[in-house]
Amino acid sequence: MSSSPDSTVPDVEQPLLDRFQRPLRDLRISVTDRCNFRCQYCMPREVFGPGFEFLPRDQILSFEEIARLAAVFASLGVRKFRLTGGEPLLRNDLPKLVEMLAAIDGVPRARRGARFRAVVALVLPGGRQFVREGVIEGRIALEPRGESGFGYDPVFELPDGRTMAEIGREKQDVSHRAQALRAMMEVLNTVARGGGDA
Ligand code: SF4
Repeated sequence: MSSSPDSTVPDVEQPLLDRFQRPLRDLRISVTDRCNFRCQYCMPREVFGPGFEFLPRDQILSFEEIARLAAVFASLGVRKFRLTGGEPLLRNDLPKLVEMLAAIDGVPRARRGARFRAVVALVLPGGRQFVREGVIEGRIALEPRGESGFGYDPVFELPDGRTMAEIGREKQDVSHRAQALRAMMEVLNTVARGGGDA
């Protein structure tokens, strides 16, 4: 894999418009068809069982191809790239792709917004259901920074300018997972005290 993708935005005059003549600003990029979950509505086990064959490697876009396409879309007015899958973190070296997308000309710093979200669900015997979430707003850093953390942490910049990989043990307090789990702990405590609608 090359470490210096062509991130030059080609000179295209006409912006992309949808059928209501609104400019298209978001591009959803699926980086893999694989996922290690089997949500019933998405990958039912009877279809995506052990024998299911996912796409062969040579039919998956390389990071260079994705970055090139993203640069073309940026030239057409797209200002937000959403990485998805399957489960995008199953793609090896995904932070490298984020770094390559962040380097694309034409996506100003103010438009590099990013969000971490974690959702915790609890279903009690009897069927009561509780869902709690944690969210952190940030932006995609211009380059990876920090030694701690994993996954997107080195390229996820918090409002104070540090990346999630630079905040060390503070992450235990501020992370989206910590927020979601704390909220669910309150639910569990309320339920344990006999509360009805935690
Ligand atoms: S891609 Fe998302 S919705 Fe589909 S199986 Fe995986 S986790 Fe579930």
